[in-house]
Amino acid sequence: MKVKDPIRQIPGIGPKREETLRANGIETVGDMLARFPVSYIDRSPRGGFAEPSEGKVTVRAVLDKVGTPRRVRGGTSLFSLSATDDEGSRGQIYFFNSPWLTKAFKPGRAYYFFGEVREKNGRRSMSQPAFSDVEKAEDFFDLTPIYRPVGTISGVSLAGMIKKALERGVDIPETMPMWFRKQHNLCDAETALLALHAPKNGEDVAMGKRRMKYEESLKINLGLLSSRAEGRHTHIRIGHFSELKRFEESLPFSLTDGQIKVIGEIISDLKSEGAMNRLVQGDVGSGKTVIAAACAFLTAISGYQTAYMAPTEILAEQHAATLTAMLSPFDIRVALVTGKMRAAERDAALSAIVSGEARVIVGTHALFQKNISYYHLGMVITDEQHRFGVGQRGMLALKGDAPHTLVMSATPIPRTLALVLYGDLDLSVIDTMPAGRKPVKTYFYTEKAMPKILSFMAREMAAGYRGLIVCPFVEASEEMEDVRDAVSVSQEVDAYYKGLYTVGCLHGRMKSDEKNRIIAAFHDGEIDLLVATSVIEVGIDVSELSVMAVMSAERFGLSQLHQLRGRVGRGDRQAYCFLVSNQLTDRVIDRMKVLVNEHDGRAIAEADYRLRGPGDYFGFRQHGFPEFYALDPYTDRDILEETGKDAQVIMASPKKEDMLCRAYLTESFFDGVSRVSMN
Ligand code: ADP
Ligand code: MG
Repeated sequence: MKVKDPIRQIPGIGPKREETLRANGIETVGDMLARFPVSYIDRSPRGGFAEPSEGKVTVRAVLDKVGTPRRVRGGTSLFSLSATDDEGSRGQIYFFNSPWLTKAFKPGRAYYFFGEVREKNGRRSMSQPAFSDVEKAEDFFDLTPIYRPVGTISGVSLAGMIKKALERGVDIPETMPMWFRKQHNLCDAETALLALHAPKNGEDVAMGKRRMKYEESLKINLGLLSSRAEGRHTHIRIGHFSELKRFEESLPFSLTDGQIKVIGEIISDLKSEGAMNRLVQGDVGSGKTVIAAACAFLTAISGYQTAYMAPTEILAEQHAATLTAMLSPFDIRVALVTGKMRAAERDAALSAIVSGEARVIVGTHALFQKNISYYHLGMVITDEQHRFGVGQRGMLALKGDAPHTLVMSATPIPRTLALVLYGDLDLSVIDTMPAGRKPVKTYFYTEKAMPKILSFMAREMAAGYRGLIVCPFVEASEEMEDVRDAVSVSQEVDAYYKGLYTVGCLHGRMKSDEKNRIIAAFHDGEIDLLVATSVIEVGIDVSELSVMAVMSAERFGLSQLHQLRGRVGRGDRQAYCFLVSNQLTDRVIDRMKVLVNEHDGRAIAEADYRLRGPGDYFGFRQHGFPEFYALDPYTDRDILEETGKDAQVIMASPKKEDMLCRAYLTESFFDGVSRVSMN
């Protein structure tokens, strides 16, 4: 068979299975083989009945007796085997709902049993183990690949189909140049696929994965090079850079070195021919908003509009207020568009946008709805990009004549990774914080300390400052009683202060009017202490906020906690953050320690990765980043970098094998497969 052959050619795939497979993007034999196992079962660890095992082990034992199946509670059928292992220890082996299996066993013969050895009342047992007659066990110790189900087709069925295909024999074309494979010591494509689908041992798997990592990395890099080569032309000319002085002078602070450097990089983009495509990375509180405002300022005085997209309504509203304050002295009008605006308000905003009266338009996804037409869109700014899919960003860019784009992110992605994740973007980093910022003093307590924390908060509030308590849930959940919720915590806290301080509650299920009212009240100091869910994660900018607590802190990711902590310490007063959790496991303690000791977003992200393990760094999957299948974009940074150089060689090479490799970029049989991660 060939990789391009339809799956129908695999024995055992009838019309029904074919339909399911096709519906899930598996149309060819190649698509099928691109579904790699997600893990493997390894039966090589050995054990005996003398000791309960840690995890599953293989026990070699001779059968003493095969029991007869009987009915037990709930109509389940059960039979047991008595066996003695090589050391002379005895154990019972149970099988449920499979009476026909009794025929597979003969007293006096030796078998391997793979399962967990448990102990009850001094007796050792194993339930429902995998097994094999010792004399017929050639394959028993091979690794068993585990596949994700595809639609209604189970992982086990998929394994069967893949096995059949490989038994038939599949011609697997080599796609990478020989010199590249030699240089990185990689096996050929066919060996790699066999090693992944039918490995003898762990080395096979490692060899196969390694090749796939390089293949994926090369493909990504070649893709990047070709998309960069195209560039984006634009007729939008933004200038008047000398006017920036007036803007700077109007600010209540002077810009940091980091901010000045980034604005300089933006200006040189705008001076060049093509459209700007820049990612600005800066830790929480590094002052990204003013950079956006400077861009909007230049865009407006050059006669164009800026669309500024925020991830939540609350944040959009706050940005609109901040930008209005910064830009209204220059008669630059800012309009807000949210999904929940009243019709009249909305119509007014839309007509100001179409007429060009509104020069800066702030909103959420609502900004790229069909009914918004811009007068002349020149700049698109997205804030906290990790919450938008790449696709959404693209849609907004479509709205105008290749507008310049600026993406702001607090996610501290290493440079090599940023290049891959944001492929088409240039990177700027704000590497200094505004002067005089004191690190937020951070402590870890259990809930027992709440009275102490609340009285500490009272001290701050008595001095005219404000407090914040963040909870993972909106309301109490019966399934997860230990996880605190905003509604009941706000009631408890209110009862604790007995009316001495005003307590407010804010969460995502409230109407947007209600949310706005509460945020405004908190801003103005009518509310002293706000209990909220993580809707405020990137949302609130109140300089009098000096103390916060995070309830059930173990429920949040470290980078998320760092973001949350960024809500305090925005003024001059020393700020405090209490992380509260009753889960005193080593894991939770280790994670909380990171935040107590570390204040740099990049270091926290690295620690988060180390403690959480691969696969969910920054929550790649949730945030619409491209998916990776063999490559771990974090630990394999070096591979990404190495192959970046190779990709340039291949791109410029006239050699046949390099040209074929380039063609493979668009011709790969891995294309079109919704990839399953092997990490
Ligand atoms: P982030 O990068 O997290 O979006 P913001 O833009 O919200 O940060 O800025 C955080 C706070 O720091 C705001 O209150 C802002 O007014 C203030 N700020 C920004 N730049 C400076 C600066 N150069 N000097 C002093 N304060 C600044
Ligand atoms: Mg911000």
